[in-house]
Amino acid sequence: MHCPKCQASDTKVIDSRHFDLGSAVRRRRRCEVCQYRFTTYEQIEMELPTIVKNDGRREIFEREKIMNGLLKSCQKRPISVAELNNIVDRIELLLAQSGQKEIKSEDIGKMVMEELKKLDPVAYVRFASFYWNFDDVESFVSGLTHNYIKKVLNPEDFASNPEKQNNTESLN
Ligand SMILES: [Zn+2]
Repeated sequence: MHCPKCQASDTKVIDSRHFDLGSAVRRRRRCEVCQYRFTTYEQIEMELPTIVKNDGRREIFEREKIMNGLLKSCQKRPISVAELNNIVDRIELLLAQSGQKEIKSEDIGKMVMEELKKLDPVAYVRFASFYWNFDDVESFVSGLTHNYIKKVLNPEDFASNPEKQNNTESLN
């Protein structure tokens, strides 16, 4: 690393810090010739497996695709974009560390669901519903009643219709 001031090649790292679970490194450096201090940011380029779609087509791994699915599932939920970024970071890191050359898109979907399960049950069920069709979700989310899933997938139907509750009360 050359000094940006005097162009000397004799620079020394005086501090290193990792960001985003290790995918970026910030380094404080000092030029040994003119003592000038500067900072560099290094992004580690990870080798990620190729995605194999259900129909057999191959695609390169794209963060944006996972992020879009997450954003869609987390709409109106109390979840920050930073939290979602962390999820994508963790998945990316796991995939890079796995050393696999290829991975099924289905397996990535499962990884996302594991993360959402810990984060938010509503986003979790929504993601599952985008991922599979609704019938599959019902059998998949065992222990949840049909009504609960409907409420979770279509919160507006319930929120905008308080009369429904009154009706059931009058039935009792
Ligand atoms: Zn210098």
